[in-house]
Amino acid sequence: MNTIQEADTYNAFHEIWVQTEPPDGELQTLTIAIKDNIATKRGTTTCGSKMLAGYRSPFNATVIDRLEDAGAMLVGKTNCDEFAMGSSTEHCAWGPVLNPWDKSRVPGGSSGGSAVAVASRMCQAALGSDTGGSIRQPAALCGITGFKPTYGNVSRFGLVAFASSLDQIGTFTVSVIDTARIMQVIAGYDEHDSTSNPEPPPNYMKNIHSPFENLRIGVPSQYRSSNNEQSINDAITSAIETYKTLGATIVDIDLPLTDVGISTYYVLAPAEASSNLARYDGIRYGHRTREHCNNLFELYAKSRAEGFGPEVKRRILLGTYVLSSGYYDAYYNNALKIRRLICEEYKRAFSTCDVILGPTTPTVAFKIGEKSDPVSMYLNDVYTANTNIAGICGISIPCGFSEEHGAKLPIGLHLQAPWHADAKLLQIAQMFETATEFHKEVPGPLQ
Ligand code: GLN
Repeated sequence: MNTIQEADTYNAFHEIWVQTEPPDGELQTLTIAIKDNIATKRGTTTCGSKMLAGYRSPFNATVIDRLEDAGAMLVGKTNCDEFAMGSSTEHCAWGPVLNPWDKSRVPGGSSGGSAVAVASRMCQAALGSDTGGSIRQPAALCGITGFKPTYGNVSRFGLVAFASSLDQIGTFTVSVIDTARIMQVIAGYDEHDSTSNPEPPPNYMKNIHSPFENLRIGVPSQYRSSNNEQSINDAITSAIETYKTLGATIVDIDLPLTDVGISTYYVLAPAEASSNLARYDGIRYGHRTREHCNNLFELYAKSRAEGFGPEVKRRILLGTYVLSSGYYDAYYNNALKIRRLICEEYKRAFSTCDVILGPTTPTVAFKIGEKSDPVSMYLNDVYTANTNIAGICGISIPCGFSEEHGAKLPIGLHLQAPWHADAKLLQIAQMFETATEFHKEVPGPLQ
């Protein structure tokens, strides 16, 4: 393959950039793609939405400045579900993104373009955003590594807001070491983000090659569900065996709130989204209707009706409903209470183990169009949403393949660690990567 342009038969990129000479720095020569909901002065930032078609940001997100200062080569903007809402990257105004392992299947979402850019080796790394699983789930479905840092450890300044208390920028890479290299550059306090962690970031590279001593791995009974595909449960069982041979102790734990995570997430995230997306009024940003309007309200309504796609409208309606005065207590307030319980549940679990292990998703990549019912799509985040609800860190790394669906399809191993244990989590993930070969596999056309 010569250029990204020729290689991108998957619609991973919305924009591909011509390379300029990067400055010297620790990430020099690293090619990295950027999810299209992260603001860049260069090119456009559309969030996969007609609402922001052609929008040019007057500023860079903090992560972009930090990458550029470190000499990384930014190769372009990747397609995503509109405003990062989705689990399949089918809801992108610029068309669906295809999974390189089987083009009739989704790459996961919402950061599907970023995952595909790395899985098909069009670049070495990519940035994504993870609000309920949007980095880890597509990483799992595309056979690469996807990392969601602890909330606050990477600045959200310049990340177009979806659900601000859940959103987190993170990475897609082929290897855990590359994740650590990028985190070393992008993590750390940013005065432009009031939720950014003021503590100095850890050294992500320091212990990355040494095994984590006396490792205790918690395996929740709820993650070994019969709702998971058999090949996924099998891959998780052998991942546990691998860790045992590396000296880890397996601890049986319980996370009974696993099942309520999705319903809690789908109250909290739309509530925040309905507020965050109120700014797209046809006046200050993006799309404005060309129809005649009799008053300001009509201008708002027509611009929003034309600019937003169906999934975004569904979330705005849902969010407005759960925040409305008659239902606020029944839905939003209750969801906040459950959020607290989920945090406490994790805290209890982490008093007995260093890391929690399970599958990233209950199924492998599904067919494009297969999940036309939104709720069945939402259920794909059953293992990832609670990580964001609690604000802890999580990573998905390749741990096997399913051959059950007429194509070789990747399986992701999900590891979650406590608040600010990001460097330890990478160290523990690296142990698995060193002991296995799954991360070296590439999709069929590249073999
Ligand atoms: N799939 C989830 C949703 O649709 C998560 C999205 C995300 O993490 N950005 O909201």
